[in-house]
Order: sequence, then C-alpha cells, then structure tokens
Amino acid sequence: MASPQPPPPSAGTAINRTTSDGGTVILNKYHLTRFLGRGSFAKVYHGRSLVDKSSVAVKVIEKPSTADPTMEPRLVREVAAMRRLNHPNILKLHEVMATKTKIYLVMELAAGGELFTQLTRRGRMKEATARFYFQQLVSALHFCHQNGVAHRDLKPQNLLLDKKGNLKISDFGLSALPESHRDGMLHTACGTPAFTAPEIVRGKGYDGAKADAWSCGVILFNILTGYLPFDDGNLPNMYRKIHNREIVFPGWISKPSRMVIHKLLDPNPKTRMSIESLMGLPWFRKSLKHHPPIELCHDEDASTNFMKLNTTMNAFDIISLSSGLNLSGIFEEKVTKERRFTSMANAEEIRKRVVEVGERLGYRLKKMKDEVSCNNKRDDQDVVGLVKGRVIVLVRLLEVVPELLLVQLTAVDGGDGFGEVEWEELKVGFHDIVVSWHNVVQ
Ligand code: ADP
Ligand code: MG
Repeated sequence: MASPQPPPPSAGTAINRTTSDGGTVILNKYHLTRFLGRGSFAKVYHGRSLVDKSSVAVKVIEKPSTADPTMEPRLVREVAAMRRLNHPNILKLHEVMATKTKIYLVMELAAGGELFTQLTRRGRMKEATARFYFQQLVSALHFCHQNGVAHRDLKPQNLLLDKKGNLKISDFGLSALPESHRDGMLHTACGTPAFTAPEIVRGKGYDGAKADAWSCGVILFNILTGYLPFDDGNLPNMYRKIHNREIVFPGWISKPSRMVIHKLLDPNPKTRMSIESLMGLPWFRKSLKHHPPIELCHDEDASTNFMKLNTTMNAFDIISLSSGLNLSGIFEEKVTKERRFTSMANAEEIRKRVVEVGERLGYRLKKMKDEVSCNNKRDDQDVVGLVKGRVIVLVRLLEVVPELLLVQLTAVDGGDGFGEVEWEELKVGFHDIVVSWHNVVQ
C-alpha cells in the first residue's frame, strides 16, 4: 500500500466536512479516514457508512480541470462493468456519487489489501497457496467472460483480498463491454505492459477472454516465483522473448505448473489454452472449493441510487447510471461547445432526424472525417457535420448498450473561430427522441 498518506479529499466544503480525527465526511453519508492506495486516476480511502456503520472503500476521482477525453468513457465502462458482475471474487460496487469536483465510487472493502502482500519473505508463494488464489482468479474471469466482459488489465495491483483472505478482482476501468466488440474482436490497445497479451500490444483485433488467459499465465508465474516471466528493460527484447516463449523456470516450479504456464503464455491466441480448458485440468481442479451457486446481479447490500439490474445491462440501467453519475462538469470548459443526449431511437432514425433538423434550421450537411485515437493509434471515422457560416457542429453516435445511443453534438472551430450555435433550437428539434440530456447547462 502506498504511503505517505495524502489527506482525505475535499475537506471543508459545504458537501464535505472535516472531522476531529482528520477524516472527512462526504455527502453526509460516508466517513473517509485511512488512505488505502493510489490508482492511475484515483485515490482510494477506507470509509464507514453513517447509515449502517458498514465499512467500504471509496475511490475518489478528481474531475480534471483540463478535460481528459478518455476519462468519462473509462469511468462509465468501469461502473457498467462492475455493476453487471456479481461474483464472490469480484469487487462489488455499491454506489456512485458525485460533487462538482469529484466522483466517488463506493465499493466493497478489500480489507486484506493487495494479493502480493501474501508473498513469503522469499517473495513467492507455495504451489498450494498460489493455486488457491489462482482458482479464484480464474473462476471469476470465467464468470466475466460468460457475461461478455473481459478484464484486459489484469495485474497485481488489481488483485485484492477481503478480510477472510478471498481474492477480489478490482479495476474494471479498462474492461470492454460486449457492445464494444467490432467484428466480434476487441480493438482498443490498452492494458499494462508485461501483463498484457502480445496481440493487444500489436494492436490487431483480439479476443478479450484469450488475452485474459495470457495475463493469468503471467500472474501464476509471478506468484510462484516473485518475478516476471518476460522482463527486460529493453521492450523489443521483451517482445522477442514473449514471441519465442522464452520462459526460464526456476527449479522449484513443479512440472504440472510449468505446463499450465507454458500453455497460457502461448503467443498465438488461437492455440493458447482457453480458460475453459484450464479449468478442466487436474492441476487446476486439485482441492478446488466450489462456491455456492452464483446469483447474477443480486444486489443485496447495494444501497444504490440506481435501479436494480437484470442479468444484462440494459438501456435503463445506463440511463439511471449516467444520471446518477452526473458527469456534467468533467468537460467543464467544453460545456458551451458540446451537448449530449441518450436516445433509444436507432442509428438510422437518429441520422434521419439530424438531416431533418439540420435542413429545417438552415444547416448544410457535410460528411466529415473524425479522428479517433486510442494509445497512439489513430482511426478516421465518417461523421455528419452541420455547417452554417462559421458554425460547424459534428454529430457523433456512440452505442452505449444495445438500444441506447449516445448522441454527441460538438461545435468545432473550422478555422475562423467558433460560430454561435443555436443549441436551444437543436434541442427542440430532437426533443422527442431524447431520453436524457447530459452536460447541458439548464
Ligand atoms: P485505478 O483504477 O485508478 O487504477 P485502483 O482501483 O486500482 O485505482 O485502486 C488503487 C489502489 O487502491 C489499489 O491498488 C489498492 O491498493 C487500493 N484499493 C482499491 N480498491 C480497494 C478496495 N476496494 N479495498 C481496499 N483497497 C483498495
Ligand atoms: Mg488500478
């Protein structure tokens, strides 16, 4: 766990108040005290519910003063992925709250901290211990994959323990919802080097479940040895080793464990062992404890702002989720230049409406190129632009879940500055296909 401790967030505002012990009460609901850890875009604190005194972990995300366009989709993905999965080895998300400057994800507390604190003084685990955690990891992943969610960012910091010592997978921030599959394959290059499957790094389409299987191989090797199977300060060297499957096993690793690791670290995802095959191996099944049957999305202890979920995330969940999240303000300086709404109309209907409304308001319609980038990869997409004088409004459609589209209207500078967009008129034009508007100044 990280130290030194940063102070708990936002003491002294009307919504948050400081307590005599140096902690902070947020939104009159949770008393935050101990700092638990820092992630890539958040700080995590121990919290106690003022309502039922239960202990929770609260992930505090500062809304950036400078807009980070990757942040909102990451958050929405994290929330959506965590809320749809209910498994004993997956960290539960209880509630999402937001103030003007911060977003709070209230989660189940993993009181045992990170899995890697369990490594012995020699920095490794005995095979039986490693297998115990590995079984929990793999069964949780299998469950995720069956529900169409791949984690894609498996690494030690995301493997936590509860107070009974059970593994909890956290941080679905980069996980992909099935809706984001293109041609059945995932296309975003994300994850953490060293734990990330080679096909993700290569940036070609990949199968998220097979990529997670590769990461499982790295994690198993890592907990059995205390170091990484492919480690080289020189990245091309590292990828050469990965490509050639150059794994050096220390003498204490048993033959069956070597075989499992070898099959998982196959650089070719097609021939790589799947999670299902792994679960059938006698090595894996040894001393396997069966969990009680898992009820999907039974939100017993979630004191949430949101509607209960059914087995799959549907449009209504996302709506309640996104209004609960109230992400307005993340792109504060963009507010005057961008409007977004969710709609249950299909893409075809929305496009037709854009043409109608645009023409009625005297806009010219223009096909434009939209540059979308992810991890240095750039992609051009066709979008519709509404053009009138200096005013250019790009209209983007984004599928949030099946049956729910996010429509983004962004004013862009065509070279001579921004023109005055008639937002109110556009708003009226779309009103009957809108489920809810986001980041609109009322
Ligand atoms: P990020 O998504 O920003 O990377 P993480 O979810 O990985 O943040 O959290 C950062 C760190 O905070 C973790 O590595 C862990 O040490 C700690 N942490 C996160 N969630 C919990 C939790 N539910 N219970 C206890 N500690 C946690
Ligand atoms: Mg993290």
